[in-house]
Amino acid sequence: MLPTKAYAAPAASVPLAPFNFERRDVGPHDVLIDIQFCGVCHSDLHQVRDEWGGSVFPMVPGHEIVGRITQVGDHVKNFKVGDMAGVGCMVDSCRTCPSCQEGLEQYCEVGMVGTYGGREKGTGQPTYGGYSNQIVVDEQYTLKVSDKLDPARVAPLLCAGITTYSPLRQWNVGAGHRVGVMGLGGLGHMAVKLAAAMGAEVTVLSTSPGKEADAKALGAHKFVVTKDAAQLKSVSNYFDFIINTVSAPLDLGQYVGLLRRDGTMILLGVPPEAPQLHAFLLIGKRRRIAGSLIGGIAETQEMLDFCAEHNIMSDIELIDIKDINEAYERMLKGDVKYRFVIDLATLNN
Ligand code: NAP
Ligand code: ZN
Ligand code: ZN
Repeated sequence: MLPTKAYAAPAASVPLAPFNFERRDVGPHDVLIDIQFCGVCHSDLHQVRDEWGGSVFPMVPGHEIVGRITQVGDHVKNFKVGDMAGVGCMVDSCRTCPSCQEGLEQYCEVGMVGTYGGREKGTGQPTYGGYSNQIVVDEQYTLKVSDKLDPARVAPLLCAGITTYSPLRQWNVGAGHRVGVMGLGGLGHMAVKLAAAMGAEVTVLSTSPGKEADAKALGAHKFVVTKDAAQLKSVSNYFDFIINTVSAPLDLGQYVGLLRRDGTMILLGVPPEAPQLHAFLLIGKRRRIAGSLIGGIAETQEMLDFCAEHNIMSDIELIDIKDINEAYERMLKGDVKYRFVIDLATLNN
């Protein structure tokens, strides 16, 4: 077993604190990654506060992991010691159901094994995430990361990047489409960069007037302050797609009306409470509401390669791991530009 240093939430809504545990030994198909950076996703916050129910404690969050491989199992084919590697939201799945066979492991019909808060398939031991100094992962659930990119800025691609890339690809978003991005946070700022790179006209729909200049710098063509009724009305019946990344409860009806006929709102954000919507808002213009969960392993690699080709990375604020609890508070206030990333070297301080 491999002694591992981490930060964990001991129970719901209790601040994260140093935590030691043991990772499994490196098996024949595993790689051992020395974690350099881990992004801070709003899903980490939802789960450490048990806002979705079913959280398991102690919890070591973190599913935007980048680091260097320091050991490989005897049967590992695609990685070698010294390679840069990434791990996203899952570390295993059943591998045999139709979804797994189609490369859609995130929709595994048995249930994917989450990078944290799950159970390892063989041992049944809890999985612990990337707020730690190392992780052991089966090579099939490990991603290749380009050595040319800044690893700290790549880390958020492992969740925020793939979660926004996957629906943009699924719905073939590109030139000629008007895309609205609701919420300019971790997911939202990646949605702006990716949708713009794919050729769409991008509008940020934000509650924060102060984010306009940033939105434009990230690649958005328009910026709408959603609290301003006149601005909101100016984009009624306008969008082909709305990527909804909002993490807090909100009145969906106000925003569904921004879709043109046959337009689709894709839900990515998971507020704790279920939204309400009058059916006429959909019926009247054959509008659709859809959802999307992260992305499969092959698609995550495709996204990383797309980002390397287009030089797309996250805009980050690097933090010391001891500041994680404060980072959560700032994230709740929308005070992050646009992703916190933990420098795991600070675990040794
Ligand atoms: P984040 O960085 O905190 O960004 C969320 C943004 O939502 C904020 O920056 C803010 O943008 C907006 N917002 C916050 N409170 C709001 C309110 N009361 N009303 C309207 N807008 C509000 O969070 P994130 O990491 O991007 O995650 C966003 C959501 O996606 C979370 O619920 C997370 O759990 C979920 N998620 C889902 C998946 C998936 O697979 N579907 C994957 C990862 C994360 P403005 O200031 O611009 O309004
Ligand atoms: Zn995430
Ligand atoms: Zn499966």
